Amino acid sequence: MRKKTIIQCAVCTMMIWLYALAGFCTAYASGSVLIDPGHGGSDKGVELTKRDSEADFTLDVARKIKANLARKKAIKVILTRSDDRDLSIEERKKIVSGSGADLFVSLHINAGFGITSSGYEIYFRGFEQKGQITPDSDNVVDDMIQTRYLNDSIRFSNLVEKEMGKIFARQGRGLRGAPLAILDGLKMPAILIELGFATNHKNKEILLEKSVKDRIAGALSKSIEEYLESK
Ligand SMILES: [Zn+2]
Repeated sequence: MRKKTIIQCAVCTMMIWLYALAGFCTAYASGSVLIDPGHGGSDKGVELTKRDSEADFTLDVARKIKANLARKKAIKVILTRSDDRDLSIEERKKIVSGSGADLFVSLHINAGFGITSSGYEIYFRGFEQKGQITPDSDNVVDDMIQTRYLNDSIRFSNLVEKEMGKIFARQGRGLRGAPLAILDGLKMPAILIELGFATNHKNKEILLEKSVKDRIAGALSKSIEEYLESK
């Protein structure tokens, strides 16, 4: 009887060690992400229907991302706005620079460029400033940091592209470098996602599907988690 207990204890101890070792070896996602639901308050953004606006859509998706990632204790999610309010670009940038976040994601819905334009688009602060930098030591260091942010933004964009492609068929508009005001001067990897075209019939149908916000939030949560896991 005593021998049996000793063997049971030894097996238990071994299993605890194996669990601990597995936990130690598995990379886990940690860090903070700042989600920026575009527009809000008096600025409704693009209109999907009389009742469905870009401002509400992006807020719902941002809240769902926060709820998804709340299950991961090591990931902190901050929102630039968590309700329907006016928020200028300057105010958003102030929140971003005070956040110390590892990643910035701004959410929008696209419109225009003709009714055939469709799909999602990802923008990040591009290569356009690089040619203007003069090679003194401060600028070289700054250039290296900006290059790292750019590389990380592209790496995150690739993860998002893989997941978002399951919701919107890719139309070859892909990833883009762009001097968008909200992304300009941010000191962290940062992207802006246009989730689809409200002016394209098929995209609009998808954006009005009941489950689409959950699916988009799921795709982005997964991308964020994968990114933070490998940073
Ligand atoms: Zn917008």
